[in-house]
Amino acid sequence: MTGTIKHFDAIIIGTGQAGPPMAARFADAGKTVAIIERGKFGGTCVNTGCTPTKTLVASAYAIHIAGRGAEYGFSTGDVRVDMKQVKARKDAASATSSKGVEDWLRGMTNCTVIQGQARFQSPNTVVVNDEILQADKIFINVGGRARVPEMPGIHDVPFLTNSSMMDINFLPEHFIIVGGSYVGLEFAQIYRRLGSDVTVVEMGPRLIGREDEDVSDSVREILEAEGINIRLNAKCISLEKRDGGVAVGLTCEEGPPEVVGTQALLAVGRIPNTSDLGLDRAGVITDHRGYIVVDDQLQTNVPGIWALGDCNGRGAFTHTSYNDYEIVADNLFNADHRRVSDRIQAYALFIDPPLGRCGMTDAEVRKSGSRALTAKFPMSQVGRAVEKGETQGFIKICVDAETKQILGAAILGVGGDEVIHVLLDVMYAKAPYTVVQRAMHIHPTVSEYLPTILGKLEPFT
Ligand SMILES: Cc1cc2nc3c(=O)[nH]c(=O)nc-3n(C[C@H](O)[C@H](O)[C@H](O)COP(=O)(O)OP(=O)(O)OC[C@H]3O[C@@H](n4cnc5c(N)ncnc54)[C@H](O)[C@@H]3O)c2cc1C
Repeated sequence: MTGTIKHFDAIIIGTGQAGPPMAARFADAGKTVAIIERGKFGGTCVNTGCTPTKTLVASAYAIHIAGRGAEYGFSTGDVRVDMKQVKARKDAASATSSKGVEDWLRGMTNCTVIQGQARFQSPNTVVVNDEILQADKIFINVGGRARVPEMPGIHDVPFLTNSSMMDINFLPEHFIIVGGSYVGLEFAQIYRRLGSDVTVVEMGPRLIGREDEDVSDSVREILEAEGINIRLNAKCISLEKRDGGVAVGLTCEEGPPEVVGTQALLAVGRIPNTSDLGLDRAGVITDHRGYIVVDDQLQTNVPGIWALGDCNGRGAFTHTSYNDYEIVADNLFNADHRRVSDRIQAYALFIDPPLGRCGMTDAEVRKSGSRALTAKFPMSQVGRAVEKGETQGFIKICVDAETKQILGAAILGVGGDEVIHVLLDVMYAKAPYTVVQRAMHIHPTVSEYLPTILGKLEPFT
């Protein structure tokens, strides 16, 4: 290790969704900043998360619609999937984004880019390769990775994760996906549409257990209608090598006790990349799952060290990580008083049709004790959905009976990932739902039905 210590105004560890814009904020303010990355620039979203999966979702959607050609009045002949091309398209999208982040950082005046594994040596010192860096402000944006639980057979059988999935350029014959939540279900539908047999194995009694039951049930119906096998209540999951493939033991209440496939994907949650960061040397506290403990403004217990993005356990999305950056940067540079607790839960499940969610679930509304009104409307009655031939799902909105503010919504249906923002923005404005009712929306859109649905509110039970 070289003895000289390099001083910066700020050090950023990780180039996920919060690190690069934070580097730009410091650099633009004329401050010196070092940003350290041990893997690919852009982190999970760009390389193994959102960008590649949504590119695959697009391929799967195009193939799915081609298969429905007769309904729309065209024929394509035999639709054949070229997995190498599907992968090449995905890789190109990820590579462009990753290179964009790298070029942006390398082109930044005042910014030093260092590739390597960063470790704290003290609360204001970070070591990377053979360099010692020091700064009064350090931002941790190290993200997370797939959780690999200790289950029987896990060390004997090859399995895939969202990261190794990125190298797949063939179609698994029978793909077993362990985990019926957001990541698992997106891959399940993608690969089913591309042509694999797919079985989803879920420990819980229903898919996406954090959602309301009606949402879980509809998602299950949508996936089963496409021929995806779903095995719930798989209490004790194990892996075993079988005939060149893999047998997944289930111990379910119903159905055979195992399912045999050719490949298995583990999609059973994420863990933060915090165990090899030397956090103990800095005195930074983590919780029992390894997430860095932060306050409402994302400061750790050590003054001058912040944790942003998935590693702080306060969000698990690209938009929450970017929002973390905005909160910290506005507090530092604009003397603003932004807080994490000000943000409203919002996310999407990018199956087709997508699920857009904002605010509370029904279960959360019930728990909150608010006096509420609710309305639910099937997508089959939405003109735009009928015109598009995509009528699965529903729209559900819950409002506070007294304040008239929107408490939460689920839009499972065509355009749900976009339409949800109509409601989300009204929630941020703290405006009553009547604003949406009085707005003139464009015809024909899914959004134009929101006023109609809000006109059908009934007491929430
Ligand atoms: C399959 C999948 C699909 C997803 N789809 C979506 C989606 O559609 N929409 C959405 O909002 N979210 C999605 N997510 C979640 C989203 O990808 C993450 O929430 C987001 O990328 C979090 O970013 P981050 O800023 O916390 O860190 P990350 O993007 O994880 O980046 C952290 C970076 O830090 C680097 N690093 C770690 N430790 C060190 C160290 N010690 N030294 C140097 N560098 C280090 C890593 O190499 C990495 O590049 C998806 C996730 C997965 C797995």
